[in-house]
Amino acid sequence: MDRRNFLKIFGLTLVGSVNSSCGEESPRYTATSSKKRIVVIGAGLSGLAAAQALHRQGHEVVVVEARERIGGRVWTSSKWTDMPLDFGATWIHGTQGNPLTDLAEQINAKRLTTSYDRTVTYNTSGQPLSKAEEVRLEDFRKQVFGKLKKAQNKDPDVSIQQAIKPLMRQVDKSSESYRFINFILSGEIEQEYSGSTESLSAQWFDSAQEFDGNDDLFVQGFKVIPEFLAKGLQIELGQVVKEIQWHQSPVRVITQKTDFLADRVLVTLPLGVLQAGKVRFTPELPRNKQNAIAKLGMGVLNKCYLRFADVFWAANVDWLEHISASHGEWTEWVSFKRVANMPILLGFNAADRGRAIEAWSDKQIVASAMQTLRTIYGVSIPEPIDYQITRWATDPFSLGSYSYNPVGAVPKMRQELAAPLGRSLFFAGEASNEEYFGTAHGAYLSGLRAAKEILQI
Ligand SMILES: Cc1cc2nc3c(=O)[nH]c(=O)nc-3n(C[C@H](O)[C@H](O)[C@H](O)COP(=O)(O)OP(=O)(O)OC[C@H]3O[C@@H](n4cnc5c(N)ncnc54)[C@H](O)[C@@H]3O)c2cc1C
Repeated sequence: MDRRNFLKIFGLTLVGSVNSSCGEESPRYTATSSKKRIVVIGAGLSGLAAAQALHRQGHEVVVVEARERIGGRVWTSSKWTDMPLDFGATWIHGTQGNPLTDLAEQINAKRLTTSYDRTVTYNTSGQPLSKAEEVRLEDFRKQVFGKLKKAQNKDPDVSIQQAIKPLMRQVDKSSESYRFINFILSGEIEQEYSGSTESLSAQWFDSAQEFDGNDDLFVQGFKVIPEFLAKGLQIELGQVVKEIQWHQSPVRVITQKTDFLADRVLVTLPLGVLQAGKVRFTPELPRNKQNAIAKLGMGVLNKCYLRFADVFWAANVDWLEHISASHGEWTEWVSFKRVANMPILLGFNAADRGRAIEAWSDKQIVASAMQTLRTIYGVSIPEPIDYQITRWATDPFSLGSYSYNPVGAVPKMRQELAAPLGRSLFFAGEASNEEYFGTAHGAYLSGLRAAKEILQI
C-alpha cells in the first residue's frame, strides 16, 4: 500500500468529494433561504457550472468575466473554419462516469476518440523504436516509477528529480539511457501534470483520481460545453475584477469599470491569478488560504498546431513521440489525420520548456518544431501552410495552464483553497478540487460543489 492509500483509508485526508448526482444537469439542491444576489467571478467551467445551478434555483446571478469571451481555459479557435481547434482543454479525459460526458450527451455533441494504443515512438535519430529499444525504454519506465513508488512511502517528500537521482547517477549524460529517462519524465509526467520534475512532489504528483474510459475530443471544439452551461445566464464580459471587499454586507466586487454588490460571491480565479495578487481581497485572506495559494503549483502546457498541405506522417496513428536529444523538446505530438482526416499536427511543450518558449517568436517556435519533424520525416518535408500557437503562462487571466502538486504542497491545501469564508465568500476552480485538479471535469465539479455550499447557507 502506498502512503496515499494509507492516509485515505485511515481518514487522515478529507476528500472534498461531490457525489455523482452533481454530474446531472439539475442537481436537486434545496435553498434554505430566499432569493439571493450572487456574483460569480469567472466564466470558465467552474463559474458557469455554479452559476447555472444557482440560477436554476431562482437566485439572481451575475457572472463577471475579465475576457471578452466565456470559457476561460476552454477556448476553441475558429481561425481554420474547417477545423475548430482547442487552445486549452481538448479531451474529456476518461469518459466513463465523467460528468462532462453527460453534458456532451445532453447536447448531442459529436465526439472523436484518440487512443494511446495508436502511438509510434521515434528514437533520437528519428527511426521508429526497434524491439530492443522498446524493451530498454520499458525497463527504464519500470525503474523510474519504481523509484517514485518508493519515494511515496518515505518522508520527507522530495521532488521527482531527487527521487530518481540514484538512477540518473548511473547513466552518462550523453547516453541513450539518459535520453530515455528524460523522455519518460517529459512525455509521461511533465506533459500530464504541467509542473517540472524538479518541482513536482514525488509523494503527491499523481494524487488526483481518474475516470475510466476513452479520451474524447469534440468535433466542434470544447466550447460547446461552456456555451451550453452559459444558456440563460447574465454574463458581464470585459469586467476585470480588481478588489473584493468581503467583510461587509453586501459584498462589493470592484472591477476596472464598475462595482457589483452581492449577498454571496463565488471566486473562480485561476491559481496563477491568485498567486500573482492580481485581485485584492479586503480584508486579506486568512493565513491558511494564502499559504495554500502560495504552495500549490501552477504549471504550463502549451500547444503548437501546424497545418500542412498534405499528410507526410504515419496516417493511422494518433500520437507521435520523439525521444529528443534535450529534455522535453517536442516529445509529444497528436495527429488529426486518422480522427478528423485533417493534415494537422499538434506539438506540445510543458513545464519549464513550455514556459521558456513563450518568449520566442512564432517563427522561432515553428522552426524548432519543424527541426524535430525533419529529424523524423526527412529534410524534404514541406513547411506548414499555417500554424496556431498558445502562450498560457503569460495569459494575464490565467497565468499558467493548470495546477499541480509541488514539493511543499499537500492535497489538504486544495480543501483550504476551496473552503468558504463566512457566509459570503466562496471558492471554486480546478485548483480547488482535491480529487480531480488540473482538469475540465475537476473545474466543473468544483463549481457544483460551491453552488451546493451557497445553497446550504
Ligand atoms: C493547454 C491546456 C490543455 C488542457 N487540456 C485539458 C484536457 O484535455 N482535458 C481536461 O480535462 N482539462 C484540460 N485542461 C485543464 C482545463 O482546461 C482547466 O482545468 C479548466 O478549464 C479550468 O476551469 P476553471 O473554471 O477552473 O478556470 P478558468 O477556465 O480559467 O476560468 C476562470 C475565469 O476567470 C477569469 N478571470 C481571471 N482573472 C479575472 C479577473 N481579474 N476578473 C474577472 N475574471 C477573471 C478568466 O478569464 C477565466 O474565464 C487543459 C488546460 C490547458 C491550459
